[in-house]
Order: sequence, then C-alpha cells, then structure tokens
Amino acid sequence: MRRFLPLLLALALLLCALPTAAHAAAPNGDVTAQIYDHAADAPGPATSLTTVRLYLDGAPLDGEMPAVIVGGRTLAPLRLLAEALGAAVEWLPDQTAQVRLTKGETAIALTLGAPTALVNGQSVPMPDGVPATLLSHAGQSYTMVPLRFFSETLGCTVSWDPGSYTAFVSTSAYIDPLLADLERPADPGRFLIAIDAGHGGSASGAFYDGVAEKALTLSMARKLRSILAALGFQMTMTRDADEYVDLYDRAGMANALNADLFVSIHCNAADNAPDFQGLYVYHYPNSDLGTALARSVQTAATARTGAVDRDIDHADFVVLRETAMPAVLVETGFMTCPEELARLLDDAYQTRMAQGVAQGIVQFLNEREKNRKSPLSIPDFMV
Ligand SMILES: [Zn+2]
Repeated sequence: MRRFLPLLLALALLLCALPTAAHAAAPNGDVTAQIYDHAADAPGPATSLTTVRLYLDGAPLDGEMPAVIVGGRTLAPLRLLAEALGAAVEWLPDQTAQVRLTKGETAIALTLGAPTALVNGQSVPMPDGVPATLLSHAGQSYTMVPLRFFSETLGCTVSWDPGSYTAFVSTSAYIDPLLADLERPADPGRFLIAIDAGHGGSASGAFYDGVAEKALTLSMARKLRSILAALGFQMTMTRDADEYVDLYDRAGMANALNADLFVSIHCNAADNAPDFQGLYVYHYPNSDLGTALARSVQTAATARTGAVDRDIDHADFVVLRETAMPAVLVETGFMTCPEELARLLDDAYQTRMAQGVAQGIVQFLNEREKNRKSPLSIPDFMV
C-alpha cells in the first residue's frame, strides 16, 4: 500500500489544482470579495467569486460592482438593481440590518443574512436559502440581493444563459404583447435554446453593397435572444461578438450545454438572380423533430415578416448534422435582392424576423410538450 501513497498524493494534489467545473465554465472572470458573516457580525475571509453579466430589457446593466454567484445563486448590487427597476430603497433606522424596498403595491423587507424575506407582510423563503448580504470589494461595501427573488417579486421575468453566465431581467413592459399571449410550455426556464449567429470575424459570409452577412445575423440573433429571455426561456449564443467560431465548435457548444434546440440565423445570396427573394428554413435530412421545428419556424417567420415563403428543405450542414438536438438553419432573406437587403437592414424588420422565429420555437415546444403525454408522443429529444 505504501508505494501507492506518492501516486495517490500526486493525484490528490492534481485534483486540488484543477479548477471546479463551475469555475472552468465561468467566462466573465472572478472578483475577490469578503462576504459579511452576519451571524458573527464580522467580515468573512477574502474569497474568489464568479461574476455574472446582467441585462435589463435587452441592454447591458453595468455598475462598479458586478453581480456574483454565492451559494449557487446570483446576487446583484441592490442599488443598481433597485434604481434600474424603479424600486424605492429605505434602510430601517436600527441595528437589524433591514432594508425595505417598495415598488407600486409591492413591499419587500429584507434582513441581511436572513434566509426569509417579508413580501407585503408575508414570510417568503429565499431561493436555496441564499440571503441578501453585505459584501466588500476593492475597499467598498455593497448590499447584494438575490437577483431572481428580487426581480420576480417585482413582476419581472428572469432568464439565464449558462454559456456566458449572463442573467437577463425583463420587465413586463418589454414583453411583446403578441408573443406574451402565445400559448407556451409551463415553466419555460426548463428549455435552453442555442442561438447561432452565422459567420463572424474573418468569415463575413455574403457581402453585398457594403453589408456583411455576419453583422445582420448577429443583430437578428441578439434580438431573438432578448425575446426568448423575456418569455422566460434559457438561451445561449454560439457567438456574441464579431469573432470567428468554427462550425464544429458551434455545434459542440450547444451539445456541451445540452441545449434543447439549435437555431442558426443566416442570410442568403443568389448572384445571378437579383430579383430572387424569400425565406428558407433548413433541417437535417430525416430528422422528424428538425422537420417539425423547421415547419413551425417557417410558418411563423413568413407570417410575421411577409417574406416570400420558399418553404422548408433539408441539408447536410455541419451545424444541423453535428448538433444532438432538433436544429434548424433560417435563411432569412436574399442579400443579392436590393429590396430584400433593404428590409434585412431595417431594425423593425429584424425585430419581426426575430419575433417570428421565436414564435415558431415556442409553438414547436408547446406542441411537443402536449404530445409528450399522449401515446403517440415522440419519446426522445435527440434527432
Ligand atoms: Zn450564411
């Protein structure tokens, strides 16, 4: 046994040196901070915390202190969040470390370090018992509150991108009323949609009239992300910048996160036919779920945009073949047709396109959920 000890020791040291899975996946870096120990009434030890990016109604929400993960939950700076959501903050003038937040008819009383809060006088447990707390970072003290608890109590929708560690808060005013009325699966946060903006970086895609396909696809993909977030779905993007991402890596990202659907956004070109226009949606050959998703997206997107309906088709594209979930590639329109290019550049048209794609996704998932309970259900999510 003795001779194995050095090996075991080496293995133990190696395991200690490896970052945890959560750390390895965290893309926004860490901050060093001290979490206040409210029971001991003293600052805790300096600790490294994973940071989370915040979006409010589709736009980044930044402050001097980032949101961080504590106890598996995102804590956000109270002042930043309260100001952004228009909630009044009032500290109770005693030693109980209590803060009262009010917005409209809702009053939340939080005690720092306590696992329950009072919402309009009723005791409500905090998710996972993670309390609001004081945190010091870079010589400053911040009151941090559980993001989901705080936002949902004030009537917002909270969504999560597990790929970029970004939390999306959406106010009810931001939710497209047409989509808000759509029948959708219960608890949409169970579903993770991978959104793939075609091309990027050195791969411009089609290029006409000074317009690069990669810019149009990223713009539409971001709109789709905001809409899906506002509807409560989890989503992730294979790229969120003008950067080159390999096609196999795009599929790999969706597979690694175990996404439920994969939707790739592209623009088309037909060099010899400048009048040719319209919308195609591609799926992988013989994929029943891919075909159903393509049909759903094609129908909703053409209805929303008024684009010429070029129907669905199958293709052996890498992102359709290598993804382990129902996948579609939306060719939103022809950049070679001057009329259609003008529409693709129009912000309102891009929004309608994103709304249409989102509607197709929601209807597909809703149908699947309904059918799942019947004897004719398709039992497996995999293509
Ligand atoms: Zn393309």
